[in-house]
Amino acid sequence: MVYYKTTAEIELIRKSCLLVSATLAEVANFLKPGVTTLQVDILAEKFIRDHRGVPSFKNYKGFPFTCCISVNDAVVHGFPNNNALKEGDIVSVDAGVFMNGFHGDSAYTFAIGELKPDVKQLLRVTKESLYKGVEKAVVNNRVGDIAYAVQEHTERKYGYGVVRELVGHGLGRQLHEDPQVPNFGKRGTGLKMKEGLVIAIEPMINMGRKDVYYDDDGWTVRTKDGKPAAHYEHTVCIQKDRPLILSSFTDIEANEKANSNLDASYSSMS
Ligand code: MG
Ligand code: MG
Repeated sequence: MVYYKTTAEIELIRKSCLLVSATLAEVANFLKPGVTTLQVDILAEKFIRDHRGVPSFKNYKGFPFTCCISVNDAVVHGFPNNNALKEGDIVSVDAGVFMNGFHGDSAYTFAIGELKPDVKQLLRVTKESLYKGVEKAVVNNRVGDIAYAVQEHTERKYGYGVVRELVGHGLGRQLHEDPQVPNFGKRGTGLKMKEGLVIAIEPMINMGRKDVYYDDDGWTVRTKDGKPAAHYEHTVCIQKDRPLILSSFTDIEANEKANSNLDASYSSMS
């Protein structure tokens, strides 16, 4: 069942999304070598609750944390833990907020310190592919047009692996609603999108092969070849002329940049 949202409902979804975005911007300021992903999760939960939101993921089908935090070869749904992050790691932080009856959902992959050039490229290309998909999220396009755009940019252009087992989704009163929004597929196929549809577009892209497996915890999805994976997610509302992105990376990116400049100035002093 596909639900189309009213303008008022879309505004409420936007509020939830922007609290997710603000949370991820806090995370951007907090992340550095030595920090544990459990510390990140505790910070995120406090920030969300301090702003009168409820973490969407906590207890969702038994998921025990506020954020899915996935490091390096973990693609998505990683459990926060007590391992310290180190220089060169990449960390996907995925969070959801439930507020005023509606969910918001967004994810961002962060760099810890300086990355190897091939890992840096994986992050850049995966984020680009998200926006290639978002561009297609307009009235009268089909879900397959989004899928094709993501796959085209990542798999065909760069030889990366697009995860098949997990997909984006509709959202609103429920965290996961119809339709499914895959990151692979054919143009001109799938649901024809109408005004008021709200979907999470979330490329999950492996540097190596597309194959993944579930960790012993039953949740964490990892690449079979052990190579790193990246994940970015926006919640998007379908409109006539252009997509309306309800989440935002603006503050996340500003904080990320400010912190990397700080690192650069420290290293140039030493
Ligand atoms: Mg998410
Ligand atoms: Mg999602």
